[in-house]
Amino acid sequence: MIYLDAAATTPVRREVLEAMWPLLTSEYGNPSSHHTVGESAARVLGYARTLVATELNCKPADVVFTSGGTEADNLAIKGIALARPKGRHILASAIEHPAVLETLDYLKRLHGFRVTLLPVTSEGLVREEALREALDPETTLCTIMYANNEVGTVQPLASLAAMCHEQGVPFHTDAVQAAGWLPLDTTELGVDAMSISGHKLGAPKGCGVLYVRSRLPLEPLVHGGGQERGRRSGTENVAGAVAIATALRLAHQARTEHSAASVARRDHLVRTVLEGVDGAVLTGHPTQRLPNIASFCFPGASGEAILLELERAGVVSSSGSACAAGASEPSAVLLAMGLEAEVAQTALRLSWTAATSDAEIALAARAVVSSVRTVQGIGSRA
Ligand code: PLP
Repeated sequence: MIYLDAAATTPVRREVLEAMWPLLTSEYGNPSSHHTVGESAARVLGYARTLVATELNCKPADVVFTSGGTEADNLAIKGIALARPKGRHILASAIEHPAVLETLDYLKRLHGFRVTLLPVTSEGLVREEALREALDPETTLCTIMYANNEVGTVQPLASLAAMCHEQGVPFHTDAVQAAGWLPLDTTELGVDAMSISGHKLGAPKGCGVLYVRSRLPLEPLVHGGGQERGRRSGTENVAGAVAIATALRLAHQARTEHSAASVARRDHLVRTVLEGVDGAVLTGHPTQRLPNIASFCFPGASGEAILLELERAGVVSSSGSACAAGASEPSAVLLAMGLEAEVAQTALRLSWTAATSDAEIALAARAVVSSVRTVQGIGSRA
């Protein structure tokens, strides 16, 4: 089986598991306990926080460990919006993950916030002019994802953040898909808050990070024992913190090399599919895109049927985001990019890890071509 659904989740890396193991077995203390076992756990947690801060080029106090990307997005958006006395207007791109869009909907319904969703180009880039026009004196926060989870388009974060800062508006980014593939230097990106999820980069499910500038007021969502400087109560997941710190460090060490190899694989895959299937469309930006996501539409062929045919051929993939998979609604991301609903229903997303080989991608590329042709009724089953 060739697993090409890494944007949904990835396997835990061996080095990550090895780093976690002692923290689950012999060094299992509660960091709040006042004895040697607890103090040792607190030291390990501090070490993990410092490692993450080094990777993100921020202060350890800016790092809040969470249960994943969804919680990090919720904490950033609700936490910043509810803590700021100024304004009740939030800006976001129209192609955010549901973890962001549903949080905005909550703030709209229960707290009277006004939300403006910024339009994107047909390639999935936020229109900078639209952001400039939408910023107003009431704007309290702007949240724009680093890289899209369905089509892989990468936003020019630094310039978008700078535009917001000119108006004194803090900027949050959902970097869940970008982590491991793109630079995460928070100072260079100029972001005030950034969400990362462990299970997308070789750590287990249930661990995440919210970077949030420690001077930015943040209303906590979870109240209790005051852990994480009062920003996220609950006994800390020390093993999870070490896992995400280790995964970030490993990804960072090999990022340049892995990204270049992955871009070559992606481009081979895209070429093979576009040449092999009449009418196939690459969705997202042709170059400003993640190295590990290739996404297509195949007008006239059902996306669900392609998925099934492809799985029969030994390749596991997705028709869009994990959350949207299985739903018969066309992808809101593709609709926001201007695709017709009928075309959006034919979407296929292929995504992989740095461990996926050239041979696997080459095999998968051929399998996509034959599967789509089978669904279109113009080829025999591979
Ligand atoms: N944001 C993006 C862009 C994602 O792709 C995902 C997961 O698919 C999330 C947030 C949610 O992350 P988690 O699964 O860690 O809650």
